[in-house]
Amino acid sequence: MTDDAAAVPPVGRLAPSPTGVLHLGNARTFLLTWLCVRARGGTLLLRIEDIDGPRVKDGAERSTLDDLRWLGLDWDGVLLRQSDHLARYGALVDDLLARGLAYPCVCTRKEVEDAASAPHEDWLDTAPYPGTCRGRFASPADARVATGREPAVRFAVDVDRVPFTDDFRGAEKGRIAGDFVIQKRDGEPAYQMAVVADDHRQGVTQVVRGDDLVPSTPRQLLLYRAFGWTPPRFAHLPLLVGTDGRRLAKRHGDTSLGAFRARGVHRERIVGWLAACSGLAALGEELDARALLERSRGEPAILRKVPHAPVVVRGDEF
Ligand code: GLU
Repeated sequence: MTDDAAAVPPVGRLAPSPTGVLHLGNARTFLLTWLCVRARGGTLLLRIEDIDGPRVKDGAERSTLDDLRWLGLDWDGVLLRQSDHLARYGALVDDLLARGLAYPCVCTRKEVEDAASAPHEDWLDTAPYPGTCRGRFASPADARVATGREPAVRFAVDVDRVPFTDDFRGAEKGRIAGDFVIQKRDGEPAYQMAVVADDHRQGVTQVVRGDDLVPSTPRQLLLYRAFGWTPPRFAHLPLLVGTDGRRLAKRHGDTSLGAFRARGVHRERIVGWLAACSGLAALGEELDARALLERSRGEPAILRKVPHAPVVVRGDEF
């Protein structure tokens, strides 16, 4: 980041998907996102990413907000809920279709996976799209009539790399494999479309999120380019993992904040531990989010202290 960029207070966001309860892993990402913005006097927005159809769970929005507040994290203004803005995302998709930058696609996920000759490489989060439907239909209506299937919409990718500088990871090659979905067959926007539309509309200048989303960033940068919008800066942080080295999940036991709370673990222990495994406190130190903020205020390089190796959760931390 240049000194000039560091001098302007950032606009960041917390963007939880209400698909379950917050666990230590999400909590660390949110704590660091909050800290990076607040320490530089920036604005932090809250966006509920609730358009992920079947994965969204009743009650998860409420429990996420409760957990964020319990951790001591705050945000500015009213929250934005993506499901309230479906028409807006649809209009952007229509614009890309009209400009020939996107096209209807009737392939199922299984068909795309079967078409991939070998298991896809580690760096990619889905099987590369072989381009079956590119140039095949004049419009979504045409695709529907021709196949009897409800089409999704894909963005047409004509490059194989969109290099970018990650504020945590450094130079990224930004590899991208094929056309990606921007609108699902049920008409809902895909994550890539909604997140770009909202980050732009909300004036977000700094995105701090988990490194599971690294493969998404080049796709999002292409959407920014297509709309002529300035992208935010990105920092992708390593996720917490279990003792098997895999991303922290239910199989590693209950690391939800709710479970610790129910056992009477104080938030200062949790925040202290999250700060310690981020290089921002000593192990065993107890402190709340405010105290951590006071310690970090004005610090332009908080992320430089965060270790690059994944943090292993053993299950006996609290
Ligand atoms: N809602 C996404 C998630 O919870 C985060 C998206 C983002 O930060 O871009 O994984």
